[in-house]
Amino acid sequence: MILFEKVRLLSFNPPSVSEPTDLAAYGPADSLETGRGQAAGTIAEIGSGLAARYPKAEKAGSGGYLSPGLVCGHTHLYSALSRGIEVAIEPSKDFAQILEHLWWRLDRAIDLPILKASALAGCADALASGVTSLVDHHAGPNAIDGSLSVIREAYEEIGIRGILCYETTDRNGAEGARKGLRENGRFAAEIDAERATGRRPLVDGAIGGHAGFTLGDESLEALAGLVKSTGRGIHIHLAEDKFDATDSRYRHGLDLVERLERLGALTPKGMIGHGLWLTPSEIETMNARDVFLAHNARSNMNNAVGYNSILPTHRNVVLGTDGMGADMLEEFKFAVFRHRESGGPWWPGDFLVCLDRGNRVMERYFAADFTDAGDSAPSSTRSIASGRSIASGRSVASGRSIASGRSVASTRRFAFGVLAPGNPADLVHWDYDPPTPLDGENLAGHLAFGLSSRSVKSVAVGGSMRIKDRKTLFDLEEIQAEARVQARRLWKNMEKL
Ligand SMILES: [Zn+2]
Repeated sequence: MILFEKVRLLSFNPPSVSEPTDLAAYGPADSLETGRGQAAGTIAEIGSGLAARYPKAEKAGSGGYLSPGLVCGHTHLYSALSRGIEVAIEPSKDFAQILEHLWWRLDRAIDLPILKASALAGCADALASGVTSLVDHHAGPNAIDGSLSVIREAYEEIGIRGILCYETTDRNGAEGARKGLRENGRFAAEIDAERATGRRPLVDGAIGGHAGFTLGDESLEALAGLVKSTGRGIHIHLAEDKFDATDSRYRHGLDLVERLERLGALTPKGMIGHGLWLTPSEIETMNARDVFLAHNARSNMNNAVGYNSILPTHRNVVLGTDGMGADMLEEFKFAVFRHRESGGPWWPGDFLVCLDRGNRVMERYFAADFTDAGDSAPSSTRSIASGRSIASGRSVASGRSIASGRSVASTRRFAFGVLAPGNPADLVHWDYDPPTPLDGENLAGHLAFGLSSRSVKSVAVGGSMRIKDRKTLFDLEEIQAEARVQARRLWKNMEKL
């Protein structure tokens, strides 16, 4: 068990700042001690004087601010070793050439040791920025089989939560597409098998596709089939560049979203990256299907693909980095300032809603694992609960009521990103001493103009301390040293391609 004392709790939605209080959370191995297996890794109690109540708890920190962990809704860990890349890269005239000259050379140069080092370095970087959940979209066409399990190992070693997928594409031929599909299906089954043993995985799988313009009808249909058979959502880039939208209408006679909609591939677990050039009717369809849109302001600026000025018409915008690190406060600032520059109607508070919404993605994948959190249900009931939730893939609401025999109304609402008993103890302790008052009214303003990852002092995921007093509880030095070795190998491999 871990204990934070006299911390002010930050809530992002609705924004609020509490008076100093204590927060105690169960560690990942606390199930036996508490007799409440499903409570492991969740927040136990919030209130004053908790040290007396939990005398054995590890003192995790005091003073300052404690917030829920941040979520990155879309990233590419395979790009973590491209920082400062020293490879001769031809100048690119447009986005298609950026892919061809840089990213499609880089992803072909990845083998599993490079991937592991890249994922470890990327996950460590994310955690150091206060990010406790990372949604990844992986490509590496010469090392597809087992790649998602390698990334999962990195997540578990660092102790960060997330959702992984392989970006299936036809650009490497039919066999390449088949391998991508197989890896997504294999990984979903791996996680299902883990859940069937009653364990609560740190990582889940989505069904990945690269982008509309590199996926023919057959592959897209197979992806839609996996969405249905695994109960996962599709994770795909659409309309990042105008070319993708034009190509879809020219070659397929359909808008990008329409292609997915016809196949039944759009579900509430679905994530569409970018979407700059979607039409109002496509956004209407996405909204009707309750699909997420991952907005990556910095990446769009870097690739000069344009600005997503129709952002406010989306129902479910989340923020992602698209592989440009995973510092979500930095990304938040870029999202705000680029929007202000565009003359758009949103304010920092609107982007804070988007930042917080990443938690809804996590809930849609992981809520069933926590259905009994905070209950004192006996272990036999717990195993029924977890087994059932895998089978149906239904929401926490139905899981709760069946498993516990209680109505949803009579129990608290489970949520990621909310500091309340029973919710996952994904926590960031901020060493922030602002020169102006900080309250719920101006919290988004502090995020836009002040608070940054340099204030991250400690981070816990699932009640497990991963960074404490600015020191990582994993061997960061070794991870970075190995990453530099693998980065050189990656760059050398790229020179041959
Ligand atoms: Zn992306």
